[in-house]
Amino acid sequence: GGDSVLSVQLVPFDSTRKLLLTRDITQLERVQTVHRDFVANVSHELRTPLTVVGGFLETLLDLPDMDPASRESQLKLMFEQTGRMQRLVEDLLALSRLENGIEIREDRVDVRSLAQVLATEAGGLSKGRHTLRIELQEGAGGVRGNYDELHSAFGNLVSNAVRYTPDGGEIRLKWRVEDGCGAFSVEDSGLGIEAQHIPRLTERFYRVDRGRSRSTGGTGLGLAIVKHIAQRHQARLDISSEPGKGSCFCIRFPTNRLLEPEELVTSGQ
Ligand code: ADP
Repeated sequence: GGDSVLSVQLVPFDSTRKLLLTRDITQLERVQTVHRDFVANVSHELRTPLTVVGGFLETLLDLPDMDPASRESQLKLMFEQTGRMQRLVEDLLALSRLENGIEIREDRVDVRSLAQVLATEAGGLSKGRHTLRIELQEGAGGVRGNYDELHSAFGNLVSNAVRYTPDGGEIRLKWRVEDGCGAFSVEDSGLGIEAQHIPRLTERFYRVDRGRSRSTGGTGLGLAIVKHIAQRHQARLDISSEPGKGSCFCIRFPTNRLLEPEELVTSGQ
């Protein structure tokens, strides 16, 4: 890192060049800060569950004759906490794979059938607590992209909709062609998000409500993963929301990624 700072003094005076270098350094510093914050956040996210598990293990070792009911409840809590750490590590690995740019295999993704798969998964998460709807525009086929990545991106939006929508609410999955773009959106009638938070939602570990995110199994990395996947497909993530009314998360694919229904193969996915 120090090298670039030194090079400022080595170049002959040229105001435009100096401006560029200053900008490079500012950017470098920003990257370093983001990296430091990230490491601090990961450590913090791991420390809490580790402390819980460590504490319970100590108790169990100290009290071998503990009554079976308390023993079971402590084991359950440890199981939950290890699940939390597992999800965090899975999401971190997913992010790092995306950042390294591996796995860019392209498929002909039939978004209509993917939406059916997601609706089934949403049903499993919601367990009947929400009304689920799918709206597929006739003639909207699919996209050229990585099936697993798109499944994961759309799936993150669906699981958020379920987690941030109180019981009795409605969740809609939509797929349509709009202004030449393919738009996949997940809409919910949930808590909604205040405008000032929206630009920061895709930052790693940014959460509006920490308690709710954690208690519902959130890692704080879901939307960062969604944004990465969208970018790799030259797609855009648009978020709109009204507090108390609900939210809409929409991934828009450019025209050159769209596939007509006839271009889709039905096997191999
Ligand atoms: P998390 O694991 O915390 O859900 P995400 O990156 O998926 O992490 O989302 C970041 C934050 O955005 C969440 O903590 C939550 O505050 C907010 N959020 C995401 N989706 C929704 C939604 N459908 N409705 C309301 N808030 C949402």
